[in-house]
Amino acid sequence: MRIFDPHIHMTSRTTDDYAAMHAAGVRALVEPSFWLGQPRTSPASFYDYFDSLLGWEPFRAAQHGIAHHCTLALNPKEANDPRCTPVLDALPRYLLKDNVVAVGEVGYDAMTPAEDTALAAQLQLAREHGLPALVHTPHRDKLAGLHRTLDVLRESGLPPEHVVLDHLNETTLGAASDSGCWLGFSVYPDTKMDPERMIRILRVHGTDRVLVNSAADWGHSDPLKTRHVGDAMLAAGFGEDEVDQVLWRNPVAFYGQSGRLVLDSAPPEGQSYEGNSILRGGE
Ligand SMILES: [Zn+2]
Repeated sequence: MRIFDPHIHMTSRTTDDYAAMHAAGVRALVEPSFWLGQPRTSPASFYDYFDSLLGWEPFRAAQHGIAHHCTLALNPKEANDPRCTPVLDALPRYLLKDNVVAVGEVGYDAMTPAEDTALAAQLQLAREHGLPALVHTPHRDKLAGLHRTLDVLRESGLPPEHVVLDHLNETTLGAASDSGCWLGFSVYPDTKMDPERMIRILRVHGTDRVLVNSAADWGHSDPLKTRHVGDAMLAAGFGEDEVDQVLWRNPVAFYGQSGRLVLDSAPPEGQSYEGNSILRGGE
């Protein structure tokens, strides 16, 4: 089973996770920029983080045979902090980088006017750069949040096929599907969406335009949830081709719209990243 995790935060995961993901079939992933838990106090702290998603983390992933790409944005939560919003002015030069396959995560957290401004500005940037957008739907007030998101998307003029609406569930599936956007589902260990609920959604909706991710970060999460969904699909009677569509071809098609996906994940031999090699312990 070949797996592309379209949304996972490897910054907060260990090398053991990379090794386990490779053993489970993960050969490619996309790491969206997000809130790091500790509030940032200046735009410079974003730039170091973006550089790490563009350089260090792909290097680390390649050592485990996994192709790493990223999405960059000012996240919804920090869009409310005036110390962080100048990042919006620097984003255009970051969006030119080869490894950036979408603008994201953008969207709503608490649905404030500042979040409105950041979302609209970043959807505009996606349009100008010909990039897809990864849009996070809020965990609270889900359906209201989705409707407001869809209104802003329509105003942006970004084509729905360039947008994935993420963290969907049974309550938001219908409206999200009608919008023509791609449909992202984050599968968690014991909250929100789990593999069995995902199977029921796939039975109703089918496999078209569906992306399944682990959204693993520092919270209680599991970077092997993509594999668990693949196994659950096979056990439920889906064919191998349908599993391959959901876990590989759909994310390749979505992020491939950037024209920047490189899925060769050959490990770097004898290389270091800015003088730092993490090959040790007889790997
Ligand atoms: Zn995320």
